[in-house]
Amino acid sequence: MDNTQATTSSAPSPVGLAALEARLRQDLEWLALPGKSWTPTLERDGQPVIDVAIIGGGQAGMAASVALSHLGIANVIYDQSPKDFEGPWATTARMETLRSPKTLTGPALGFPALTFRAWFEAQFGLAAWDALDKIPRLQWMDYLRWFRRVMQLDIRNEHRVLAVQPRADGIVALKLQSPAGESTVLARRVVVATGRDGLGGAY
Ligand SMILES: Cc1cc2nc3c(=O)[nH]c(=O)nc-3n(C[C@H](O)[C@H](O)[C@H](O)COP(=O)(O)OP(=O)(O)OC[C@H]3O[C@@H](n4cnc5c(N)ncnc54)[C@H](O)[C@@H]3O)c2cc1C
Repeated sequence: MDNTQATTSSAPSPVGLAALEARLRQDLEWLALPGKSWTPTLERDGQPVIDVAIIGGGQAGMAASVALSHLGIANVIYDQSPKDFEGPWATTARMETLRSPKTLTGPALGFPALTFRAWFEAQFGLAAWDALDKIPRLQWMDYLRWFRRVMQLDIRNEHRVLAVQPRADGIVALKLQSPAGESTVLARRVVVATGRDGLGGAY
């Protein structure tokens, strides 16, 4: 029998996102992640104090959220954008692709099944990956939407942080604007992941 012909006649079909997600769940399960919560609950002024409030639900804020959850530290992300339109990719961006090479692993935090490549190959296969030059920005946004979904991140969209106020008792108060109006949340720590908006906004 001619084995060469049998093995090279057709490329394997993409495994699909459901299979990738099953693998990712298994990987996390084997590593006992996310970590078990261990921080004591804290209240001030009759209000719960969040362990970490993350301002910005772009790729950096999401990576910070996953990293904290894996350490067993509860966190909430606040982002001013509507759901699935965080960061510049599907709004202010004009260039059609990312600038970085496709092989940079982005916010995957060392998990192979969480990389853009895994997400891409699961849907389009290895030949398509080999043929891809730079990652189209809207496809990157789709990947980030998937990332958020599979990692089950707590992102409160349409929540704009208006002020960050450190208090004398060591707690930080965040003043928020959302469709429900203005409110204040308290946090032990704050991560600022506001991207370019933090430098004054897209221009
Ligand atoms: C076309 C294009 C190609 C690019 N290519 C690359 C590349 O190849 N490699 C690379 O590293 N970078 C590239 N960049 C830069 C890219 O913008 C950043 O790498 C990436 O967006 C940084 O992620 P981030 O999470 O830090 O910030 P962002 O993605 O900007 O996310 C910040 C989030 O914070 C939210 N936010 C800001 N202020 C507040 C507030 N007060 N309250 C609540 N939410 C707030 C914003 O709504 C936003 O969703 C490219 C950019 C563009 C436009």
